[in-house]
Amino acid sequence: MLPALHLDRLRIQLAQLPELITLAHLALLPGSGRRGARVSGATRTAPLPCRVDVLSLVGPTAASTVRDDHGDQDQTPGLDLLAGWARTVLDDRQRANDWTGWVRPAGHDWERTASRAVKVLLLHLDWAATRQYARDLADEIGRLHGHLNRVSGTPFTTGPARRHVCARCKLMTATIRPDGMCECSAPDCLAVLTADEYADRAERVLAELAKVA
Ligand SMILES: [Zn+2]
Repeated sequence: MLPALHLDRLRIQLAQLPELITLAHLALLPGSGRRGARVSGATRTAPLPCRVDVLSLVGPTAASTVRDDHGDQDQTPGLDLLAGWARTVLDDRQRANDWTGWVRPAGHDWERTASRAVKVLLLHLDWAATRQYARDLADEIGRLHGHLNRVSGTPFTTGPARRHVCARCKLMTATIRPDGMCECSAPDCLAVLTADEYADRAERVLAELAKVA
């Protein structure tokens, strides 16, 4: 059984994966992303027109598992491992004859395999967390998330988001997004402010409060 804390983190990681995969694809071009690894043209072969570190992660030949029993392999996990785990969990649950809460995840058949696998894994996650392989599942997804985070250039945090006072509705419902924007989650506010706009509004709110006091 996966401890609740690990399960929470795994759920957050899975929810972030589709966006991270998109960002990783955008980071394929040389010089993009934070690391900007370049292929040297010193040899006679033409340099690859894309970042090798990203390609090995999201490309078609990326490894489908990162199982590493001796901890001595530096293998980059590929997106195939998502579909692999989705299949494992589905097969396992079918064999266990457990159909509670089992629905077909929303989406289309032409949707990319990785994003469908993420939906399947999220749907069956509570059940998968009770199985023997739960720790392996969490480890591998965690490593994939870490690799994607590194190449995409906009690291996503999986900890609980720090809450700030929203500069518009003044509730403790604002969080800072990975792109630096301040976003409010109060249903009748939903303000999205840049860091400057936030600071500007916050100053005015403080000034108003000072007048009242
Ligand atoms: Zn607000």
